[in-house]
Amino acid sequence: MSYVGFMVNELGLEVKHYICMRCKRRFSWNEMLYLPGIRCPYCGQRIIAKTRPLVAKRVKAI
Ligand SMILES: [Zn+2]
Repeated sequence: MSYVGFMVNELGLEVKHYICMRCKRRFSWNEMLYLPGIRCPYCGQRIIAKTRPLVAKRVKAI
């Protein structure tokens, strides 16, 4: 069940960028394609969230 921690924003289907809830690094969907599942390509965390340009300003401060 590798999708358990995956938070999907159905209203942001055009969004192509994600942020890891553990290391706060941002990455694109293409980067995840190299992985066996949906997870952070940097630390392996499965809890990631989609980001939008407006939201990205907020997470930047973390
Ligand atoms: Zn990470």
